[in-house]
Amino acid sequence: ALQALNVRKSFVSGRLESTVLHDLTLDVRAGELTLIAGPSGCGKSTLLAILSGLQPADAGQVRALGHELGGMSMRALEHFRLQHTGFVFQGFNLFPALSALEQVELPLSYMGLAKSAARRRAVESLEEVGLGPRMQLLPAELSGGEKQRVAIARALAKQPELLFADEPTSALDAANGQIVIDILHRIARNHGTTVLCVSHDPRLVGHADRVLAMEDGRILSDHVPTPPAEPKAKEPSA
Ligand code: ATP
Ligand code: MG
Repeated sequence: ALQALNVRKSFVSGRLESTVLHDLTLDVRAGELTLIAGPSGCGKSTLLAILSGLQPADAGQVRALGHELGGMSMRALEHFRLQHTGFVFQGFNLFPALSALEQVELPLSYMGLAKSAARRRAVESLEEVGLGPRMQLLPAELSGGEKQRVAIARALAKQPELLFADEPTSALDAANGQIVIDILHRIARNHGTTVLCVSHDPRLVGHADRVLAMEDGRILSDHVPTPPAEPKAKEPSA
């Protein structure tokens, strides 16, 4: 679904140039929840921004759903991102003056959906993340976990083929982190969405279909994790 080939990115500050991504190559499989795990500063957010078309690479190629992102015009890239991708940001990025429902409806109207269809989809997505009863509230009236779920609903409502999430659990306590992990897992399972998540949260590891370990701008390993033990099913009583 998504490939990076020899992607390189450097940032210049003053006279110092530092390379954040070193000829990085990876292949994200369709319909899977892939986790990129690595320490703070190793380049995860930069990589996600490049893979989702938010930022250009300095060198190398990114191929998403068969499109070569580097070869697209700004306009085509914007259209691609709007129609085919969802992004859950590290800091939620919610509009303070909009209700949860309005936050989710906004990109749908940009996509060209009619008002009634946008409303229906937005409500469905908010219900899917368990926020049906709270959808009229403003961000300031929601907890951190609820805000993160609004951000996920907003991305999910677009029904994107590719969903990107940057540290979706880092601002949350254990219980809320677990809820968000379960939602991401379900999105890949039930909607067939390709979910690419970057995080240093070890709780996410067991829930991913695949884990890529990143360090210092490189992918060091690629493995399928052991899923966490399911709670034991009750024996049917005789
Ligand atoms: P964290 O886990 O803390 O979110 P990260 O793995 O997401 O970290 P990045 O945000 O990708 O790391 O940053 C990697 C490196 O690139 C850091 O050293 C950072 O300072 C640098 N960097 C990122 N964006 C820019 C920028 N716009 N200008 C200059 N340097 C940048
Ligand atoms: Mg980051």
